[in-house]
Amino acid sequence: MFSKVLIANRGTIRAKCVQAVRELGARAAVFYTDQDNMSHGVRMADEAYHLAGADPIRAYYDAERIADLAVQIGADAVHPGYGFLAENVEFVRNLAARKIRFIGPDERMLRLTVDKLRMKEEAEKTGMKIVPGSGACLDLTSLVSAAKETGFPVLLKPVSGSGGVGISVIRKEAELRPAYEAFVNRSERLKLENRQVFVEKYQEHARYIEFPVLRDKNGNAVSLPEIEASIQRRFQKVVVETPSPLKDRDLIRELSAQSRRFLERLEYAGLASVEFIVTGKNICFIEMNTYVPVWHAASTYSTDADLVREQIRIISGDLLSVREGEQNPRGHVIGVSINAEDPAKDFVPSPGTLTQFEVPLATNATINATAKRGDTISSFYEPVIAQALAIDSTREASITKLKVALSELIVEGVKTNLPLVRAILESPQFTRAEADISMLVDKDSLAELLEKTRREAEEDMAAIIAALTLHGDANSQEIIDAAGRVEGFSFWNLTSRLLNRSTME
Ligand code: ADP
Repeated sequence: MFSKVLIANRGTIRAKCVQAVRELGARAAVFYTDQDNMSHGVRMADEAYHLAGADPIRAYYDAERIADLAVQIGADAVHPGYGFLAENVEFVRNLAARKIRFIGPDERMLRLTVDKLRMKEEAEKTGMKIVPGSGACLDLTSLVSAAKETGFPVLLKPVSGSGGVGISVIRKEAELRPAYEAFVNRSERLKLENRQVFVEKYQEHARYIEFPVLRDKNGNAVSLPEIEASIQRRFQKVVVETPSPLKDRDLIRELSAQSRRFLERLEYAGLASVEFIVTGKNICFIEMNTYVPVWHAASTYSTDADLVREQIRIISGDLLSVREGEQNPRGHVIGVSINAEDPAKDFVPSPGTLTQFEVPLATNATINATAKRGDTISSFYEPVIAQALAIDSTREASITKLKVALSELIVEGVKTNLPLVRAILESPQFTRAEADISMLVDKDSLAELLEKTRREAEEDMAAIIAALTLHGDANSQEIIDAAGRVEGFSFWNLTSRLLNRSTME
């Protein structure tokens, strides 16, 4: 095992890594900027280094500085978490040159896995089906002919990208130029090394399923229960569940086996998630990620296996410690991502101060908040403010548990997707397990969900007006106005509180 691990990330994944490192008996070191000095992960760490005056984004992308810091503090490994430097080949090279282990793949493997086209080739060689699409395109002309050959609608994807960044749905030729130009501009701004793109046939009504797999240097491998995350916005997961509600368990077993075979073919040691899209019986590999899945908590919640701890152990050279049965699901898990964003405006982030953020104390679900009251949601980072998860013996019971917990979550000061998430959990597509990746992409389907949130807010408003009128409250308008600004606040709750208060007085 390592003796000291520097965690090169922020937010909840930093806190999770700190915890895992400490549980493994090593020292956890972190660094932080002026913007995130009071974060949980910083307080829990054994050592915390303040990067005074550092740019809040660049600090976490600074491959050279972080590698130097690791040397200065005597760390023997660096955990990149997800995002930031988790797929940065130069960083991995910098660390190797300093004899520090990167908790992820080595440079040769990372070069292969970050290249979606090379991964598709490898998948085909393993006998897996891939989505039809083009090879690498370096200019608009080749992109146009690739898209025409593939047939619209297509998905435009960067060859090396993650987190859905740079991906767009292209329905007709005229949409290619603006999408490509936006990609080129962004690549120039961020000085990205790989500026190749490709197209893939857009599988409009597919479902998205991924398999986390752990494999050690001796080839012992275990795949954890599949995570279905078909409901996405901006190509990022909004609702996850495990196991997938897909009835065809033979298909799931086949995908799980394919995932393990794929890691075997690559001779990969560590943690990876193998991703597929499924339309009926048609299953296609899309890519493999080598970093901790953003939704690792869903796996840890549903089984006895801790993905992050196992990953660190394996990279340090230990053998897999997940024992037979420990990877079996204990129940059905549903998880949702609560984001500070405006679903009605193309999910644009909604930065601001969390003037109110009340996470229910007594709840049967788990709400992992990434922020607290008074925090500023900055436009620098992903606007996730909480991951909420519930587990129960059935899917229905788990959905109910989550809905109850979310009805008690109060967020004020920023716009959030909370009302939308509630509407999704109530929708017939979701409750009948029929939702696919089009749910929040299709304009009509999204509009219908948003309309439902609007109607509910109005009904709640009517209820509170009725209650206030009944009690002749002089400040009713003020209260209504204030309540109207409370995103995700249940007016029913407010009404009953007011009623209780006046009865007690
Ligand atoms: P990234 O590495 O940026 O996350 P992915 O290739 O994993 O990119 O794609 C992001 C998301 O886009 C996936 O989670 C999936 O829902 C969707 N997706 C990917 N490929 C296709 C496709 N060919 N058709 C439809 N949806 C797709």
